Amino acid sequence: MHSNRSLLDIDRDHLIHPVTSFRGHEAHGALLLESGKGMWLKDVEGRELIDAFAGLWCVNVGYGQDSIAEAAAEQMRRLPYATGYFHFGSEPAVKLAQQLVDLSPEGLDHVYFTLGGSDAVDSAIRYITHYHNAIGKPEKKQFIALERGYHGSSSTGAGLTALANFHRGFDLPLRWQHHIASPYPYRSDLEGDDAAIIARSVQELKDKVAQLGADNVAAFFCEPIQGSGGVIVPPVGWLKAMRETCTQLDILFVTDEVITGFGRTGPMFACEAEGVTPDLMTLAKGLTAGYVPMGALLMSGKVYEGIANGAAPEVAIGHGATYSGHPVSAAVGLEVLRLYTDGGILANGQRVATRFDAGLAGLANHPMVGDTRGRGLLGAIELVADKGSKARFDPGLKLADRLFAKAYDNGVIFRAFADNIIGLAPALCASDGEMDEIFARIAKTLDDLL
Ligand code: PLP
Repeated sequence: MHSNRSLLDIDRDHLIHPVTSFRGHEAHGALLLESGKGMWLKDVEGRELIDAFAGLWCVNVGYGQDSIAEAAAEQMRRLPYATGYFHFGSEPAVKLAQQLVDLSPEGLDHVYFTLGGSDAVDSAIRYITHYHNAIGKPEKKQFIALERGYHGSSSTGAGLTALANFHRGFDLPLRWQHHIASPYPYRSDLEGDDAAIIARSVQELKDKVAQLGADNVAAFFCEPIQGSGGVIVPPVGWLKAMRETCTQLDILFVTDEVITGFGRTGPMFACEAEGVTPDLMTLAKGLTAGYVPMGALLMSGKVYEGIANGAAPEVAIGHGATYSGHPVSAAVGLEVLRLYTDGGILANGQRVATRFDAGLAGLANHPMVGDTRGRGLLGAIELVADKGSKARFDPGLKLADRLFAKAYDNGVIFRAFADNIIGLAPALCASDGEMDEIFARIAKTLDDLL
């Protein structure tokens, strides 16, 4: 009966898109993508686009890696599913856990697999709650995160997310979640004074903990570089200072490396750059490079042992999901890790980051650009109406929407945040020429909008 309707009509009528206005979508319709190879995407109308955002900061190895498809197919033929419940398991999940323990900062020895980032954060909140109960500190139920942070949209994690959109109309009470200011150098009165920015964050965390009562605070969550908040890059040394402060205050330190993991900022994990080991770490996206869904929660021995010792041996710890440690996702994860390491993609990302930096620097003098910033292959271009005062464009201009649309016309995809911040996260497999192409197309887009 519906056979003559176009895909776009069906999409408009039936598919609810994540983080998208229902009515806006009915009005504009979808941009349906059809295929991809390396850095390049093709849409259903045959347009070729260079992807400067790796899908949604996830396709770090680029599109069309045949060896990943083969790893998935081979695992599906051999054993498409094995539960992790009741002591069952599968070889790929075990091997992937081992590799994550080996690759991550020393001391993160235990891995719980999830389906993505939101439920990795949700699992962290639940296990932390269990941990504090188990070690006899049941009053530790308050969580602190950063303004402008994004930690997914599960019912618990959405509260740690401090972006207004994720709360408008979703007002389930989350009174146990609190925020301190984002270390945002460009928009700080302390711009240029890294030590003072770090000291202020440390003081704000101490003040917040004092206000809530140290005995009541469970953990502090942060992204090493805030992604969805507009690629906010804190000064070098910030992460280490926050780790040390959490240790002093006896609260758990959780890094959400869903975006920054797997070479996005240079090293395998952003924590490594500052020699920091968190108590827990959340991962997703680059773990399977977006080819199939998977996330992970890494846990230190301290947290694991606390939970283990506090529970009666024969009583199950009631947290789980049917697809935790899914063998096909794990097989894909193993092949993706092989591509990063033996396949040389992590090293290529580190090499081409120099070209990425040059591209950002080349746009700094553009009349619309107030700030460019980045680390590794994670970057942002912040547009302003006035460079001197850093005034933002009038929201009524809907510049972010126009930017995205113009960029699409110019054959480049990036993220255009509401504050007119262009987010960039190209795949780590990019060549120098492709990196230059990305920046040429962005420059043209900005010129077109002048
Ligand atoms: N944490 C961070 C830092 C993220 O950037 C995201 C997603 O962008 C999430 C958690 C949620 O991950 P997912 O969308 O896989 O649920």
